[in-house]
Amino acid sequence: MLLCSYSLSSQDKCNILVIGAHPDDCELITGGTSSKLIQKGHKVKFVSMTNGNKGHHIHNTETIERIRKKEVEEVKKRLGCEYEVLNNNDGELIATLELRNEVIRLIREWEADLVITHPNYDYHPDHRHTSTLVQDAAFMVTVPLANPTIPILRNNPVFLYMLGRLDNPNRKETEIAIDITSVLKQKAHVVDSHFSQMYEWLPWINQKPLNNVDIDSQSSRESYLYNYFIEERNKVADKDIPALKRWYGESKDFKEIKAVERYEICPFGKQVSDSELKVLFPVFD
Ligand SMILES: [Zn+2]
Repeated sequence: MLLCSYSLSSQDKCNILVIGAHPDDCELITGGTSSKLIQKGHKVKFVSMTNGNKGHHIHNTETIERIRKKEVEEVKKRLGCEYEVLNNNDGELIATLELRNEVIRLIREWEADLVITHPNYDYHPDHRHTSTLVQDAAFMVTVPLANPTIPILRNNPVFLYMLGRLDNPNRKETEIAIDITSVLKQKAHVVDSHFSQMYEWLPWINQKPLNNVDIDSQSSRESYLYNYFIEERNKVADKDIPALKRWYGESKDFKEIKAVERYEICPFGKQVSDSELKVLFPVFD
């Protein structure tokens, strides 16, 4: 933990904790942002609150859990992050007190400066329960008698929501948009680790068969993912322009941006100014 007063300089390194529901959410939603942070020497840890053991249409639960553990190991190698997968069943996550204490442990042990999780309007019940767990831990990480065997954080982290496929129904414009054009190839390389998900499960569950992808060829797969992020996940939209102006300034050439990742500021945890957030979350270049 490095923060005392947010009088940080750009030389300081931050501890970032991304808490997703499944063993692919963190990289699918924040893979570009996390690549930028790691390239700058910041420490990033991903957590999956479940073991992902429902994420397949052919394998049984034990087999897909085992496959996904290996895929996570590949993500660690390709991205250079830490990764912890909790042994909770996929599709059955509930925001219990026991799991809140687990989230408090994760945040404290990582000495997180910044914590990122799903918003609670997301499509999957595990995402919504993960969001609740992290929000419920946001204040409690500073309370000594809560989970007392793990030292508290004297400085409350900043909490952000990572936006997946759904927009916030109460917002017309994006709050934070990060240009990931320079790391889009790296994001495709990292996400390609999830063979069982990107090339088997998601095409099946979304009823979108893969066309023109040679799944035996890594370059064909990664080129497909690169275009998938531009077309389906991270394409710049009109709603992103005010946020890009706010965080990058008017002089940025927005036409050069191929893809963005989107975030919102959580009302719990430490509240900071835009300039303080840029120091904690140094990805706006
Ligand atoms: Zn998920």
